[in-house]
Amino acid sequence: MAVLFRDFIYMDAEMERASRGDILVEGDRIAAIGPGPWELAEEIETVQGKGRTLLIPGLVNGHTHAAMVLLRGLGEELPLKRWLEERIWPVEAGLVPEHIYWGTRGAIMEMVSTGTTCFSDMYFEMDEVAKAATETGVRCCICRGLTGDDPVKVREGVELFRRWNGKGNIRVQLGPHAPYTVSLGALKEIVGSAADLGSGVHFHFLEAEWEEAFIRDRFGLSPLAYLEEAGLLETRGTVLAHCVWFPEGEVPELAGTSVTVAHNPTSNMKLGSGHAPLQSFLETGVPVSLGTDGAASNNRLDIWGEMRLCALIHKGISKDPTAIAARDIFRMATLSGASAACFEKLGLIREGWQADLVMVDLDRPHYIGWDPDNLIGFLVYAGSSSDILGTMAAGRWLFRDGEFPGQDRGEVMGEISRCRDDLLGRALRR
Ligand SMILES: [Zn+2]
Repeated sequence: MAVLFRDFIYMDAEMERASRGDILVEGDRIAAIGPGPWELAEEIETVQGKGRTLLIPGLVNGHTHAAMVLLRGLGEELPLKRWLEERIWPVEAGLVPEHIYWGTRGAIMEMVSTGTTCFSDMYFEMDEVAKAATETGVRCCICRGLTGDDPVKVREGVELFRRWNGKGNIRVQLGPHAPYTVSLGALKEIVGSAADLGSGVHFHFLEAEWEEAFIRDRFGLSPLAYLEEAGLLETRGTVLAHCVWFPEGEVPELAGTSVTVAHNPTSNMKLGSGHAPLQSFLETGVPVSLGTDGAASNNRLDIWGEMRLCALIHKGISKDPTAIAARDIFRMATLSGASAACFEKLGLIREGWQADLVMVDLDRPHYIGWDPDNLIGFLVYAGSSSDILGTMAAGRWLFRDGEFPGQDRGEVMGEISRCRDDLLGRALRR
């Protein structure tokens, strides 16, 4: 399959300014950028941009729990620990594979319609997630959430890696849940297994304020020393979700390690967790991706919304309008997220790179006044996911003019609703 995007505006986080031209997609890659002429395949779809449609790289959701769409709205307005212990964990105990499958299918619909072509997912029954992603064509980096000291679960994570890593659009990491649910000994074992496999590690870290004192009291270590002791600074790639309470004084030591921070501004705001020292991460060169976290704590899976909120809260908190440039946020939502999810040649519009592309309609009132130099600001501050006309991953349309090619929207909606009723029913019966 080949697609010719004729007369489009295009831009990625490394381009100084937006450009205008044609983009040719062949198979799963961007084959050429220019004006042509090119020798075109007979079987080609031509999409006319008329200089009023923008192509950006597919957005990457750097941290989520996709099937949590089934738990959306549960325990609203509770603090993190009570929210988990009283509302989330008791319901999650009743999750069965078909819940995960249909929940993920629903989450994928939500994500591709808001421009996300790749997501990093930590949950249970991850074969179902891999299946849902493979069937729909979206990319994902999965890890099984590991809690406790049970070696069986670690083995499951390792087997998941062997089964799925590198298959089509799937990548796998190991996923110890958090310092307060996994012992340091188990964490070291997991990191050791990751080193043997050559896999990355995905870990929740310092989401709530009490976690730093917990780490100091329980292990006698500062957050940075704890990461070092666990081996998490030297893996093939460590994703630390949240880092809201990462001590500012230790941030410079994180730069140059294997760590990417996954920043989840809405979830952190909604659970009242606080705000991460994002400016320090970016200024010291620590890579940062952008995530939604699960739909039960957001409650959207819309990275575009995260970009705007991220831009605004850090300016407001620091009382500095120059804090966090729109271009940095766009990079977090594309290239940085793609690298953290273990994908190569993903996140920029370049010849030979993966054809994960999102079409944005610039022919709308709130884009009047855009030019090649200011477009990135228009996107982050004035744009929204409702401007999206189409989403493509690896050269395949996942969303187009309000439809989901290859998916039965009615079936997915019905199954999500049925699974939610079943799941909540199980929790009530216990
Ligand atoms: Zn999370």
